[in-house]
Amino acid sequence: MREHPTRSSRVLNSLIIVLWTVLFAGGVSAQVDRLAHLDVQGDPGSSLLLAEGWAPPSFVREPGKQGKITKSPFWCSRCADHGEYAKGARHPAPPEKLLNRPRSDMVATVQGKAKKPPIVLAMPRLILVCDLSPLSARMLKKYEIPWIREHFPKKKTKLDQHAVAHLYAMRCLHLFAQWTDLMCLDPDRKEYRPADHGQTWGNPSMNRGEVWLFPAAEPYHQFCRQFFKGFGKWSSWWYVKPSNQVATLIHAGKLKDDILHARLDHMLAHQHLFEYRGHYYHLPVWIPEGIGHYFERRHEQKFDTFCLLGQPRQKDRSDWEWKARKWKREVRSLVSKNEELPVTKLALSSTSNQDLIPRYHVQAWSMINYMIGMGRGRFRTFIDGLKTKAEDDHVLEAHNNAFRRTFGVSAGQFQARWRGWVLKKQK
Ligand SMILES: [Zn+2]
Ligand SMILES: [Zn+2]
Repeated sequence: MREHPTRSSRVLNSLIIVLWTVLFAGGVSAQVDRLAHLDVQGDPGSSLLLAEGWAPPSFVREPGKQGKITKSPFWCSRCADHGEYAKGARHPAPPEKLLNRPRSDMVATVQGKAKKPPIVLAMPRLILVCDLSPLSARMLKKYEIPWIREHFPKKKTKLDQHAVAHLYAMRCLHLFAQWTDLMCLDPDRKEYRPADHGQTWGNPSMNRGEVWLFPAAEPYHQFCRQFFKGFGKWSSWWYVKPSNQVATLIHAGKLKDDILHARLDHMLAHQHLFEYRGHYYHLPVWIPEGIGHYFERRHEQKFDTFCLLGQPRQKDRSDWEWKARKWKREVRSLVSKNEELPVTKLALSSTSNQDLIPRYHVQAWSMINYMIGMGRGRFRTFIDGLKTKAEDDHVLEAHNNAFRRTFGVSAGQFQARWRGWVLKKQK
């Protein structure tokens, strides 16, 4: 006997179809919406405004023409030597040690037979040891002029060693403000903070990092030979184990001031990223390098520091001698020839910048630009995801989890979308 669907079962069937259609179509559109952030238009990452309108906190002085400083954004050894600080002045604490050795010994080592000792500047999260040569005031960026005039009103055409040291301390504070803005850690920009902002900044047991700026190759090489086991051509980056801190050393050589400034920003980005949440898990090198280039190339799209240490291990050095000025064209060529590194390989690559040849720095920079273009909150979530890797988590798993949690796709799918972005935006 054939069964005929009853009226009620027909109604039920059509209801199921309607429900299925709503659920399915809804699911697809939710999926599309959830991934809409991956369709980055143009290059918003590169042009993102960071710490816009920032200026260093002013010096506060006692009343009167020669009033002593009562409050300042950094402590300066030269100002202290000149008796410029009022009794009980408020400023960040001067360091007793540099590179875990008595400060006076280290200053004497750098000074050698030279005229004046290097200037030590203490900021809330960084120590700068600055021994740069005098600089023409023409090299100042327009927004930096009032920073310097406030303290050195008479230095109209040339900044001496002392004024240059103040300038670089302010540049360090500026980069830190940009970094905290990018990472949604700026207390004045609460609206950007992602949900998990309860995390602490850095490990309190970490000492302030140090940046040493040398005027030329020779004192830099000599200093590195004495205190470290090697050095990069222009800059070195070290973890000082006994004092639990990182140290960056850079020499100016014949570099123009704008290049030196950009290079400093690259290195400071490494330093702040490492110190963030004080985690000793070194991120796969493509991430710090991508971020370093991101900050450096915000100055000008032709600056490219490859902070390599010592000699490349490869016998064939051709990869390391590679030089490209047009990074956007280069990354497009990499992608269109399918020559980019798969992101899983990047994750598994060493944490040493010896292992990432310059050509892949370009890929790393482009991927970070793409990522930042999706918003700083997401970027912070991604870094947080990587930084929460437990000791026994596999690096690939931590990498993949960070991609999934932040962008809603696997690392491989992320890379496919990035490829599409690279090819599309260059048209
Ligand atoms: Zn000073
Ligand atoms: Zn670097």
